[in-house]
Amino acid sequence: MPGLSAATHALVDFLDARYDRYAVRGATPRLTASELGARLADFAAQDARIKVEIAGKSAAGRPIHRVLFGQGRRRVLMWTQMHGDEPTATLATLDLLAALSAFDQNAALATILKETQACIIPMLNPDGAEVFQRRTAQGIDLNRDARCLRAPEARVLKRTHDDFVPDYAFNLHDQNPRYTVGDSRRLTAMAFLAPAHDASGKDNVARRRAKRLAAALVSLLAPRIAGYMARFDDAHEPRSFGDAMQGWGTSVVLVESGAWRNDPEKAYLRKLNAILLLGALHAIAGDEFDELDAAAYEALPGNTRHFHDFIFEDAQLDFGEGIPSIVADIAVDIPGPPPLLADAARGRVMDIGDLRDYEAGERWSLAGQRVSGEALRIESEIDIDALRSLARPVEPS
Ligand SMILES: [Zn+2]
Repeated sequence: MPGLSAATHALVDFLDARYDRYAVRGATPRLTASELGARLADFAAQDARIKVEIAGKSAAGRPIHRVLFGQGRRRVLMWTQMHGDEPTATLATLDLLAALSAFDQNAALATILKETQACIIPMLNPDGAEVFQRRTAQGIDLNRDARCLRAPEARVLKRTHDDFVPDYAFNLHDQNPRYTVGDSRRLTAMAFLAPAHDASGKDNVARRRAKRLAAALVSLLAPRIAGYMARFDDAHEPRSFGDAMQGWGTSVVLVESGAWRNDPEKAYLRKLNAILLLGALHAIAGDEFDELDAAAYEALPGNTRHFHDFIFEDAQLDFGEGIPSIVADIAVDIPGPPPLLADAARGRVMDIGDLRDYEAGERWSLAGQRVSGEALRIESEIDIDALRSLARPVEPS
């Protein structure tokens, strides 16, 4: 089976090696719609090949931007941050545009502009981004509104899709950073999914092509994060845009940025998104994956959950009369998206027992300590510092 061209791999290597030269500085995961709008306007002002439009308005009246570049016949739609607290790919979009502008003599980037036409909606949910929440100002999860299209932001995406008529689409998210790869303890850095277009689980033409595109993405990242990629759950969800769009005939790949050790701001995953998307555009420009084997995608292990924010090992749990003590490991998670663990105050007990095979954000030993088994029941809320004060840290193995 033929693979991607040497030119595509070389472009990704080139962009990887020079990332610090073009990456947009000062843009953080708490980017707002107004800051995004100002940065996009700068790109459009400096580079006539980049066009920026207002695609529509959010429920609270914030602009939803749309970026266009390229003159080719292969049409590629991308959207980011339909969940307001998932900004990694929005920041990567800025880096992608910066790379296009910075290397305007680069032949591979010129090929992208000549052979493809890209339409990117960075930050589909600006109201959610403003307060860093998943849902919209109206409380809607946009990725459950593809069928009814009740939310104005969902209608902006549908209208853009129908006007633009893409061949390919990238649905760009951040997944729960606690997911791991298959049977391993490795945190998933990136997960991919060619969503199912209906409940049968069978492939249509669009999905078969999406699987080959997903395999291309895996092969572009394999030199960087082999072993840290997973397949996202492929149960059909008719309300989600990826699944719906696959049914409309567009080949959609869901890309989920997960976690990278000691990188809570996800700077590395942001960079991988930027270079990956440009590599994918170059592969699309050359129709490079028409013959590609989808196995590299299909063989990815699934996302699993072999991770907890805290594991306290070997606690002796005392129960009082009639129930003997037992030694067990205690897993604790912070509710919601993980804050910096050092700042965490309250957590929830998620598991009790043999947790030696689980990875942890922080690992502590309670060996020799007696604690109340009544206070550490499953799902009970606990004071993390109180447990820490009894424990000693376990160095990562
Ligand atoms: Zn999401």
